[in-house]
Amino acid sequence: MIIRVTGIKAVHEPNYGSINEAKRILKLAFFLEGWLKQIYDDWNYELPEFKEPKMVDETKKQKKTTDSHPISNITNSLSGLTMTFSNNDSEYERWLITHNQGFVFNYFGGGQGSREMNKVHSASCRILYRKQDEGKRTTTFSKICSTNLSELEKHITNLRGNSWVYCKSCLNK
Ligand SMILES: [Zn+2]
Repeated sequence: MIIRVTGIKAVHEPNYGSINEAKRILKLAFFLEGWLKQIYDDWNYELPEFKEPKMVDETKKQKKTTDSHPISNITNSLSGLTMTFSNNDSEYERWLITHNQGFVFNYFGGGQGSREMNKVHSASCRILYRKQDEGKRTTTFSKICSTNLSELEKHITNLRGNSWVYCKSCLNK
């Protein structure tokens, strides 16, 4: 299935994919869904017109990271839901693909001495896609994810006070 294979590639290879390819797959998924609905659900169902997603305005902060990860300006969920992933790499990786304008907190834990290890990244940060972490991205430490940075910051502050940092390579704060 092309949709799945390409999705996985995008996760493991940050440089993979282009905006056009993402659009093409989105379109394919759209028609596939409509077709399945016609077959299994409602023969009279008419496919609504396909609309390409609008480009999301990049903020200065995110601009740097989108250059290295072109697929990242395609989708953006507006819900600011904060989710925690523990021992669930597949759901976490799915979240990363579908919320690549979001933010990820690597919940390392520990005391004040571990401050630097508790880091907030942009969802498109290369560090989150490192090959050596494959299969254990959420098993050693939980990942707390949100599309709303201030909501995530609140959540982390409840957990750790000020004992956490922003990633210097993706969030230059
Ligand atoms: Zn980062």
